[in-house]
Amino acid sequence: MTTDSTITIGLLLPDVLGTYSDSGNATVLAQRLRWRGMSAEVLRCTAGQAPPTGCDIYLLGGGEDTAQLFAASWLRSHRALCHALESSGVTLAVCAGLQILGRTMADSDGREHSGAGLLDITTRPRRRRATGNIVTDCHLPGVGQLCGFENHRGATTLGPGVRPLGQVVSGVGNGERPFARAAGEGALSERIIGTYLHGPVLARNPALADHILARATGAALPPLELPDQAALRNNYL
Ligand code: GLN
Repeated sequence: MTTDSTITIGLLLPDVLGTYSDSGNATVLAQRLRWRGMSAEVLRCTAGQAPPTGCDIYLLGGGEDTAQLFAASWLRSHRALCHALESSGVTLAVCAGLQILGRTMADSDGREHSGAGLLDITTRPRRRRATGNIVTDCHLPGVGQLCGFENHRGATTLGPGVRPLGQVVSGVGNGERPFARAAGEGALSERIIGTYLHGPVLARNPALADHILARATGAALPPLELPDQAALRNNYL
């Protein structure tokens, strides 16, 4: 935090990761705080900068395979940042952002690359890309259903210490069909929320945004009634 009352949001590598406007997750978090009269600051950290290590919230977006390999090695080279993601703050990582936090990820030729090792997950390519709308039942209490769209080749396997963020209702999520009804989506550890959902996911799913904000501020936030947003969600759920 920059002051006791300002929530800082570290938007990591918006110049490398951020397909489908995932950077908008930072805008949503900051605006939902400001609508409640709270102060927020978004710190954009591009590849040439030393990343901030004292943020309340960190965000990583999705990206193409080459971009994500760069992002993975960038992350590994910033050990203090990795420590911050593990031990302070709350992190939301989307798609490639999720994959690079894991132990390993294999490219489409099957070659394995190291991730940052902050999550006990591994990612391998599916036979076919998973593309389209996705709906899940989120495991976080009070968050309900999540909607978004997915576009990824990676299939992600969770280790024993990691839970999925939710169960797939429709779409692919972490795994392969025909297990879609039982399939998990995303990953949850103590401080990291990972998901394949774009949208940006927090614009589509305000309850998830408020869950992250409640974690970061240490208190449940007063509800915000935004009828347009509810109407928009009804198109997808
Ligand atoms: N490159 C990764 C994959 O295809 C992630 C894609 C993304 O972030 N949208 O699995």
